[in-house]
Amino acid sequence: MFRILNKDPNSRARTGLLETPHGVIETPAYTIVGTYASIRHLPPELIPATKTQLIIANTYHLWGRAEEIAQAGGLAKVMDWNGPTMTDSGGFQVFSLGFSREHGIGKVIRLRSDHSSETMANNQNKPERNLVRITDEGAWFKKTPGQPEVFLGPELSIALQEKIGADIIMSFDECTSPLHDYEYTKIALKRTHRWAKVCLDSQTRSDQLLYGIVQGGEFQDLREASAKYINALPFPGFAIGGSFSKSADGDFNILNWTISHLDEARPRHFLGIGKIEDLLDGVLAGIDTFDCVIPTREARHGGIWTKRGRYDIHKAIYSQSKDPLEEDCSCDACVSIDQATVHTLFKAKDTLAGQYAIVHNIFFFNNLMAQIRQAIKEQRLRQFRNEFLANSKKSA
Ligand SMILES: [Zn+2]
Repeated sequence: MFRILNKDPNSRARTGLLETPHGVIETPAYTIVGTYASIRHLPPELIPATKTQLIIANTYHLWGRAEEIAQAGGLAKVMDWNGPTMTDSGGFQVFSLGFSREHGIGKVIRLRSDHSSETMANNQNKPERNLVRITDEGAWFKKTPGQPEVFLGPELSIALQEKIGADIIMSFDECTSPLHDYEYTKIALKRTHRWAKVCLDSQTRSDQLLYGIVQGGEFQDLREASAKYINALPFPGFAIGGSFSKSADGDFNILNWTISHLDEARPRHFLGIGKIEDLLDGVLAGIDTFDCVIPTREARHGGIWTKRGRYDIHKAIYSQSKDPLEEDCSCDACVSIDQATVHTLFKAKDTLAGQYAIVHNIFFFNNLMAQIRQAIKEQRLRQFRNEFLANSKKSA
């Protein structure tokens, strides 16, 4: 189901074809986020022109609709998309409900893409705020304070993901915070490994690719142990999750520690990562697929991504501009509308504003992945990376 086409002799980058029941994905690929089984502000008929290959929905958010989605023929059908889909296990939302409150980290998304000194500075360490109680079986938690506890564990996560019916599904793991120490991370990793086996044993459908998740925080020996453990299990693919940082020279330490222990023939997904620089460095380290809210979330707020960097379409300098959102872009938005019109739509809070911005941003990221695939084929990925980043930083 996964075939490697080209390998970069100077890095771990590769291109490949990932076969799913709903179509073939050319890798490396970006996974667009459709949390509630739809991409907000983007009607399904506009998706194909954005070059989207894969859409991820969140099991936690679809929990209450899983049965209804199963009855309706599964996620791809419900989305009116009929292309390849992915779901996460729901674990990330549950555990972040715990530690993001306990550690005073407001936005869970920061844990993956922007965990930083800011996060550390905000550390309030208030265990009483943690709404999650973890046992060896799974997690008991309160969706809202004052409400009765609910439970999510590996068996239920797989049962929900089988009902939702995405092509690629994820093992249930405990996602730790960057503020968790070595001892806690080690205990959590043990649970994640136990749950990985339970997930495999709980699977009843044979048409879904269940990815095993590598955890271990920022600790080299834990990451290595996790990669070896997950690699030894019969998962058809891998995902790398959790919190980590990059070294000063742009290296993802956790990828260097883990990927050499993962079977080369199976696809590798990087959970929640999707900034331009991280995509380029992730591919160089051997990642095949990524998912991130950046293209869609930023578009809703007027953030437009281009090869020269990101800009805010709300700014007054765009109010008279007859230029497209990005020069030389062939997306449906750029060929049909100018910056001034999108600027005015945003000012008027017209939902079409978000639609134009999302069409462009998704196309931009998917197109970047196409250029990355081409650069790997031509054995010039590192050069492409450096040139692309130099250009985008020049005028960002
Ligand atoms: Zn465009």
